[in-house]
Amino acid sequence: MQANETRIVVVGGGLGSEATVRRLAKQKRAGVTIVYVRGMPYVEHLWASPSLICEPSTLARSISPNKASFEIPGVQYVYGLAQAVRDRQVLEVKLLGADVAEPALLRFDYLVAATGFDMALSARPGTTLSERRAWLEKVHNALKAATNTVLIAGGGSIGVETAGYIASWGILKAGTTVTLVSASDSILPGDATQTQEAAAAELRRLGVRVITGARVIADAAALADQVALAPGSRYALSNGETVVADVYVPAYASGPRTRWLESGAFGGALDGKTRRIVVDQTLRSTSHPALFAVGAVSSAHVLGSLPNVEEEAKTVAANILTLCAAASAGAKPAVLQPLAKPMLSSTPYQRVSKTFGMFKTESFGGGGMLWLCGFPCVMACPCVCLLEGINPMVCGWCCARPEGKGTADLLIAIGHGVGVAADTFKGWGEKPHEDGGAPPAAPAASTMGRLH
Ligand SMILES: Cc1cc2nc3c(=O)[nH]c(=O)nc-3n(C[C@H](O)[C@H](O)[C@H](O)COP(=O)(O)OP(=O)(O)OC[C@H]3O[C@@H](n4cnc5c(N)ncnc54)[C@H](O)[C@@H]3O)c2cc1C
Repeated sequence: MQANETRIVVVGGGLGSEATVRRLAKQKRAGVTIVYVRGMPYVEHLWASPSLICEPSTLARSISPNKASFEIPGVQYVYGLAQAVRDRQVLEVKLLGADVAEPALLRFDYLVAATGFDMALSARPGTTLSERRAWLEKVHNALKAATNTVLIAGGGSIGVETAGYIASWGILKAGTTVTLVSASDSILPGDATQTQEAAAAELRRLGVRVITGARVIADAAALADQVALAPGSRYALSNGETVVADVYVPAYASGPRTRWLESGAFGGALDGKTRRIVVDQTLRSTSHPALFAVGAVSSAHVLGSLPNVEEEAKTVAANILTLCAAASAGAKPAVLQPLAKPMLSSTPYQRVSKTFGMFKTESFGGGGMLWLCGFPCVMACPCVCLLEGINPMVCGWCCARPEGKGTADLLIAIGHGVGVAADTFKGWGEKPHEDGGAPPAAPAASTMGRLH
């Protein structure tokens, strides 16, 4: 490590951290080192998780398994789990791989937290590819074997999608039912009534029972982040009802992944209630100036919208590089840029089932979209609507309805790496060169910021 080197450590592995690292790597100047701590040795498309339990074989299309393909040149990678921030701006990382027992100690000048949120269906940080495959198969087999009910908790986007996929994928035995429990008075709270009604109608058509205004209360805390596969289990609901289910899926974001920050020197950066990092408009921690936050871990984040995450990544990268430049020039205090107003109020579309997806008019707020005939025409890119032979087309043809199978096909394809994720990570759908969970080599000495 050089004496005048500025070290930026980014922790994550999802779309937020990736967008941040890409921007940092593109714009960085001499003397700046970027270290990327990834909790996963492979990339999995988060959005595919609800469909993966229905068809685990599609995992191969929803991953970028090879480091040689997805690693960004010029960035130092450390594969491991951030554990805590020690004094003097040192991050402790438990390296992935059984043969490396000692934690790595990474010195940083700026730390970016982009560790996302807990969700029972998503791969736990540190999971190997073979462990992930085995887990998906296990849940899939439990769904196929179920004879009572499959109980889904969460009336938001992920819950609706999970219930719809399970009910429409053709994997359940005849007579097995799907019940969706929503704590809100409707499903998809916050969306337009039209969207809520269309989703509810599709779930009804598929035979999904929807219970609104109730929560699964039995062992709620213990159940929040794991799928339960004990056949015939009884789940008490807050409305007094009990559901007997063979599979229970909590399908909602159960909290920001900030436990690694809790006990160490940066514990005070978290909000006592939400456990998110309290940031100002520039996405910098209000209490720890070396800390920035991107995505679900940030108090500024509007959950569930990737364009917003991208905007946050852009802001954080620009601000850290501004600070680096100001420090090296010994110039006046750096002026940091505030986060732009969120582009979207929620995800612009909703998957409901294998055969029904829809675009949500209310998310776009008018900017860049024209509602000429039903489908949102993107004026910047009319060819998407006009070109023939693209499979899947967004809606099948111009002026089609903004909902139905065409949209569902597109949304499933996105989970297989078409679009955003393919642009972000390279190597999508490749055959793994190794297990993807095989222990990566310990980081080179130059990666490690030693305390002594
Ligand atoms: C099922 C589903 C469907 C979605 N659909 C859409 C959609 O249609 N449109 C849309 O815009 N958004 C959608 N989203 C939301 C979108 O995926 C998120 O907004 C986005 O992924 C957030 O990115 P992130 O980087 O903050 O978190 P994540 O993508 O969750 O990434 C966090 C990363 O941090 C790693 N990590 C966690 N803890 C540690 C640690 N201690 N050390 C090291 N690494 C760690 C994890 O392994 C993970 O790779 C969906 C989300 C889900 C779950």
